[in-house]
Amino acid sequence: PQPGELLLDVDKVRKQFGGLVAVNDVSFQIRAGEIIGLIGPNGAGKSTTFNLISGVLPLSSGAVSFRGQAVGGLASREIARRGMSRTFQHVKMIPDMTVLENVALGGYLRSQSSTARAMLRLDREEEKRLFAEAERQLQRIGMGDKMFELAGNLALGPQRLMEIARALCTDPALLLLDEPAAGLRHKEKQALAEVLRQLKREGMSILLVEHDMEFVMGLTDRIVVMEFGTKLIEGTPAEVQASPAVRAAYLGT
Ligand code: ADP
Ligand code: MG
Repeated sequence: PQPGELLLDVDKVRKQFGGLVAVNDVSFQIRAGEIIGLIGPNGAGKSTTFNLISGVLPLSSGAVSFRGQAVGGLASREIARRGMSRTFQHVKMIPDMTVLENVALGGYLRSQSSTARAMLRLDREEEKRLFAEAERQLQRIGMGDKMFELAGNLALGPQRLMEIARALCTDPALLLLDEPAAGLRHKEKQALAEVLRQLKREGMSILLVEHDMEFVMGLTDRIVVMEFGTKLIEGTPAEVQASPAVRAAYLGT
């Protein structure tokens, strides 16, 4: 994508679970090269919004466009194929496989239209390509020295980086990260932030759901704040920090 290109257009998306409106006509946009934060108190609708964008949940109404094309109603795998790649809040890995194998396997499953087909079509060339790509992405985010460790032996910080490497294997234009800093120690958060800044310098665009205010403030270009399913405010970190409504909703002060 060209810098500044409109990548993601979230237009009045809505999700109802029975009588509960979890996401209430929320709109925002992401341009190429931006890091956008999505924050708000527990139950505000952040994860649901994320699931609507990535095709994990169907929309009740509204529209999502990615690079000018409507993606609402598409399967998450198809959306991923078009260049939107996500991580999940809880790390998904096979603990007794190496970091490299975990990343390669992730890239493998993401690149196939079904797991069963993936199993049947395992050929040498494809395997080599996947491992080379996994290694390239691990080197890219500074995990080259941990490639041959067992994934289950990694601390939480490196596990989250492993997930990001896996998401990068499909060469996405937009990276969606669900609470990447949750539970990390201060040093791990700093390392994660540095990796995300580096990806941004390389032209990557990132949407991150996050709980940790300090982490989001220091990293993002713009922040969307949600409360009770609606968008409360959108602005620069400084604007959001100065907003009395945000302080009331998010910080409870
Ligand atoms: P957040 O990620 O901001 O904490 P969520 O998007 O997880 O918020 O949840 C928003 C609201 O929707 C909450 O009230 C939650 O209980 C409800 N909710 C989320 N997923 C479901 C579901 N699958 N079925 C019913 N209610 C749900
Ligand atoms: Mg959530």
